[in-house]
Amino acid sequence: MNSAGGGCLEDENWIEKVMEAGKILRTIKKELPLVVKPGVKLLEIAEFVESRTVELGAFPAFPCNISVNSDAAHFTPRRGDERVLEEGSVVKVDIGAHVDGYIADTAITFDFSSENQKLVEASEKALENAIATVKAGVDVHDIGKVIEETIKKYGLNPIYNLTGHGLKRWIAHTKPTIYNHPAGKGVKLEEGMCIAIEPFVTNGIGKVVDRNEVEIFSLPEKVVSNEKSHRLVRMRQAREVLIEAMKYRTLPFAKRWLKKAPEIAIAKLVKARLLRAYPVLAEVSGGLVAQTEHTLIVEKDSAVVVT
Ligand code: MN
Ligand code: MN
Repeated sequence: MNSAGGGCLEDENWIEKVMEAGKILRTIKKELPLVVKPGVKLLEIAEFVESRTVELGAFPAFPCNISVNSDAAHFTPRRGDERVLEEGSVVKVDIGAHVDGYIADTAITFDFSSENQKLVEASEKALENAIATVKAGVDVHDIGKVIEETIKKYGLNPIYNLTGHGLKRWIAHTKPTIYNHPAGKGVKLEEGMCIAIEPFVTNGIGKVVDRNEVEIFSLPEKVVSNEKSHRLVRMRQAREVLIEAMKYRTLPFAKRWLKKAPEIAIAKLVKARLLRAYPVLAEVSGGLVAQTEHTLIVEKDSAVVVT
């Protein structure tokens, strides 16, 4: 592997660190069937993933996402959440870990309905086919083409407005955008890039919209890089939220991770654009959604699957 390439960089040991984060996520994924079961509280699942990440020597790169049925992404339980995983659910568990800011990101789908295995299989197969095409110089347009074609063969749709992405140190989403359909022509993968590919599959029309529930937030780069950002905030509670959130740098965090996060303080910060909100994304036509995701390092003639 070329450690001087264009991707995560900044640190000569970055590959080791990404690989370590990936190994930890693989371990957790193997353990998931013990806890991801109907009747279990969603909060228990999230806390299991997040505490295991720390026990194994990394930190969560973002809150554990547990998006059920037509929720596609960005669901994480709130503090004291009593909701349980319902019988018959299709559930995406999307997890991230970082070692010294170097991130791995992966997701799998569990089908407890026993009638949506095709949905899951389509996302797995689309990812597998996409990975087989990855090497330096490949156009993201062509990756998207493989993903969409694979999904269509199952008579299903990709979600057109959810994408894979590049990963950089402390940055969970960056260029290149990797669509789940042919788009982005002219953007080519480069040796040493760290990327996540994540086909989302639905039996709905293939579009997500914001739902009225937000538990995940992040600080914008301009806030994190300015030590005096908190001085921009007059409301004491909002200032305290901002100061506490600084420890996550630009990485997404859950409201339940904060000591105190009064709604009024959060709302104030979001309105002032000092905090970015990630509302739950739901399939607009109510379709069921499956997702499979791996993090990869692009090499000259292939890719290393990190997760
Ligand atoms: Mn993910
Ligand atoms: Mn991702």
